[in-house]
Amino acid sequence: MTDDELAQYIDDILEELRENAGKEVSREELEKELRRFLEYGVPPDHAKQTLVKKYTTERPRPSAERILIVDLKPNEPSVHVLARIVSINPREITVKGEKRTIYYGILGDESGTVSFTAWKDFEVNKGDVFEITNAYTKEWQGVVKLNFGDRTRLTKTDDARIPEVNAEPRSFKIKDLRGGLSTVELTARILEIQEREVEASGQKKTVYSGLLGDETGKAQFTAWHDFGLKEDMVIKVTGGYVKAWKGIPQFSFDEKATVETVDATLIPKDGVKTQHISLSELVDRNGALDIEVEGTVIEIRPGSGVVSRCPQCNRVLQNGKCMTHGEVEGVPDVRLKLTLDDGTGSIGTILSRPLAEKLLGKSLPDLQGQSETLITTMGKTLFGHRLLVSGNALSDDYGITLIAHDATLHDFDITKEAEHITEELEELR
Ligand SMILES: [Zn+2]
Repeated sequence: MTDDELAQYIDDILEELRENAGKEVSREELEKELRRFLEYGVPPDHAKQTLVKKYTTERPRPSAERILIVDLKPNEPSVHVLARIVSINPREITVKGEKRTIYYGILGDESGTVSFTAWKDFEVNKGDVFEITNAYTKEWQGVVKLNFGDRTRLTKTDDARIPEVNAEPRSFKIKDLRGGLSTVELTARILEIQEREVEASGQKKTVYSGLLGDETGKAQFTAWHDFGLKEDMVIKVTGGYVKAWKGIPQFSFDEKATVETVDATLIPKDGVKTQHISLSELVDRNGALDIEVEGTVIEIRPGSGVVSRCPQCNRVLQNGKCMTHGEVEGVPDVRLKLTLDDGTGSIGTILSRPLAEKLLGKSLPDLQGQSETLITTMGKTLFGHRLLVSGNALSDDYGITLIAHDATLHDFDITKEAEHITEELEELR
């Protein structure tokens, strides 16, 4: 729509408001609201009507005006949406010893989709479009959900008012999971699973969490419902969502998701491996679980070498003192903090005692008390050398840090390479 056309619509709205003794509203405000509707594909005539209605009718509650799903905020006591029922599923629950049926589903409008829970049967069908008033919102796991209670009214309306909603779950591989994704479909093998009790909104709940894997990587998961999951099952989850902790994606699903077990040979056990990725990919992903990278040590960061730790809290002592526990008898330790670069990106890595001893070729007692030679040793052994490191990578304000589970020096083997070239030359003769 051109600016002229937009101006014409605004003139029309203002005129209708004058005729209908509507409320005072500035041109700028109308333009802002109109643009918003248009942005989401609302037909201009419909947007115009909505705005005329909004500024003409008495508004008993601020929520009486229609709100786009994308604008829903948690804990609103009364909201009005116009939406299509994308899915609806009944579920039996027991409240105070009494069985009752509630309904879960997904609603959509031009702006997006939202999960809803109906606490009674509103007799709605998939595909129907409703004006929904006096619904309320809650937040669950950082996501807004819509609830229909006793006061909520659903009025069936013309289907054409809402375009077809595309809320089909999208299929992902583990390496592509990112925080914020929803309606995710994922097929993966359960590598580890534990049951634990958590407290959610003041109630004890059993959740099932662990590790999932496919041919592209591994991720942590949490199931907020007992789906009877077991180690070594290969499952297809439809309707999961992803949150990220320090860049590491966490796949979650609750009772609204569909979980089916599929043929376990689809993802064989030995098909789930530690993935070797470039540093630029790791930087793009902003964190990952159980990956392997390779890079040249371009910096041995301060804090590397032999340190003294507090026997009570494990913190590194500064001048023989712990920040919390004061002067204590330190426990010696050795660690390495390195910067790796592979030409595509750079990250930090932290290596604990066993790995530091392995790379330096000396045990902690050998390294103690020779701080000067240690700096030389670290420089000679590591600086400019290639390192293969695996572990979990987290992101924070300082960038990405790989907490190493394993590390090996991986220098270009000049003798082997020379032999290889000779062989190739022989073949050419
Ligand atoms: Zn301490």
